[in-house]
Amino acid sequence: MENFWDEISDKLKDAFDKAEDRSKKDINLIKNIPAMLSFLGELEGDELLLWLDQARKIKKRRDPKFPPINGDFYDTRSHLTDEEKVILANVRKFMLEEIEPIATEYWLKGEFPFQIIDKMKKLNIIGLTYDKSYGGQGHSNLLEGMIGEEIARVDVSTCTFFGVHSGLALNSIYICGSEEQKREFIPPMIRMEKIGAFGLTEPDVGSAASMGLKTTCKREGDTWTINGEKKWIGNATFADYIIIWAKDVDDHMVKGFIVDRTTNGLTTEKIEDKMSLRIVQNALIKLENVKVKEERRLQNANTFKDTAKVLKMTRAGVAWQAVGCARGAYEHTLQYTMDRRQFDRPIAGFQMTQDLLAQMLSQLTAMQCLTTRLSQLHDLGVMSDEQASLAKVFCTVGCRTITSMSRELMGANGILISNKVARFLGDAEALYSYEGTKQINSLVLGRAITGLSAFV
Ligand SMILES: Cc1cc2nc3c(=O)[nH]c(=O)nc-3n(C[C@H](O)[C@H](O)[C@H](O)COP(=O)(O)OP(=O)(O)OC[C@H]3O[C@@H](n4cnc5c(N)ncnc54)[C@H](O)[C@@H]3O)c2cc1C
Repeated sequence: MENFWDEISDKLKDAFDKAEDRSKKDINLIKNIPAMLSFLGELEGDELLLWLDQARKIKKRRDPKFPPINGDFYDTRSHLTDEEKVILANVRKFMLEEIEPIATEYWLKGEFPFQIIDKMKKLNIIGLTYDKSYGGQGHSNLLEGMIGEEIARVDVSTCTFFGVHSGLALNSIYICGSEEQKREFIPPMIRMEKIGAFGLTEPDVGSAASMGLKTTCKREGDTWTINGEKKWIGNATFADYIIIWAKDVDDHMVKGFIVDRTTNGLTTEKIEDKMSLRIVQNALIKLENVKVKEERRLQNANTFKDTAKVLKMTRAGVAWQAVGCARGAYEHTLQYTMDRRQFDRPIAGFQMTQDLLAQMLSQLTAMQCLTTRLSQLHDLGVMSDEQASLAKVFCTVGCRTITSMSRELMGANGILISNKVARFLGDAEALYSYEGTKQINSLVLGRAITGLSAFV
């Protein structure tokens, strides 16, 4: 044992003598190693094991599961109340402890980690902005947006699961449901005892959903019969309720229904082999003579304009997701560039690396400021469709740019899923396309700018 320590100590001294060109900090570190080794060499067996055990614990504490880098450069968090900051801190803790360790594994498997639903329930973050009488907490939309950012910062799929349930499905009932429907369906969904999905898109109808759905509904007495297909529906393989949007064959208007997933005639088939959001369970839904009672028809959804009210909210949510995805990629990359050495120095020290990092942080900061203001407008009750569309486009385009720069800065390691940035890069693609593609949201904006519709 003694020889072993002496040998290592000599080798280090030797390396130290040769390392004349190293920085002072490195030299001091190397200088300490022989002293440390000689201390370890004097310990008895049990003492040595105890010491190593302690050292391992310290290392575990210090080993960051997520780099301790603050990607909120303009301190947008300062707009939250103290109570809201605590809620956000709990979400961060949950994401780091429960999701971060499993995200890559489940992403690769393309499976949903069902065990997280029970853990997520305890966070109490569904329906945060809703009125207390429905089980909500009356918090700000800004907090809800920042929660989305915080979740997506670690895993965008988890954020999409959250967004489909609490944004698309729950908001459909909150915005378009009758008072009785809200009281019946919202509280169990807020408690996550029931999970929701939202079925608008169809195999042949994506961007043009406002121009006419192929899925039909027909009323006879108190019963509606729904026929058609829905594609890409998130959470649909396991959700309790799926909001199905269909065109009434009699008045040609779009109507929404709260449909039990287990209803006869409704089948779901998981969409496999995605290169984005692989944890999200997207499904193709077939509806063959599905019978739904009138009491399950969303009583305040009478035209596609009502569906669009739901989409406005969730477009804002996707803009926040893009901020989180970009932030996660930026923070991982910054840490990587500090750790990765080439030409005998951290790559973060090269001018061209810093140029890319500066571009990434500038873009990210602009996105954060934009979404923060958007949510403030939402809280004031004046957020418009066009403002939500602008944020959705700006942030998802920025997210694509930042995640791609991240990958570039990580060299070959950037294409390894285990290095996380590749996961963010893939996930950015779905954000770019869902809730209205870049083109569709730009057309919404273009119409507002010019007063001329250029959709068709
Ligand atoms: C991961 C994921 C999850 C999703 N989850 C859901 C969900 O839960 N529920 C749901 O209902 N849907 C969901 N979607 C569907 C999503 O909303 C649609 O993919 C989106 O609306 C675009 O439709 P599309 O894919 O059919 O593309 P298309 O409409 O076929 O568009 C293809 C291309 O043509 C362009 N284009 C179309 N029309 C025009 C035009 N007038 N001018 C210029 N360009 C145009 C588009 O911008 C796009 O680039 C999800 C999609 C993904 C990828």
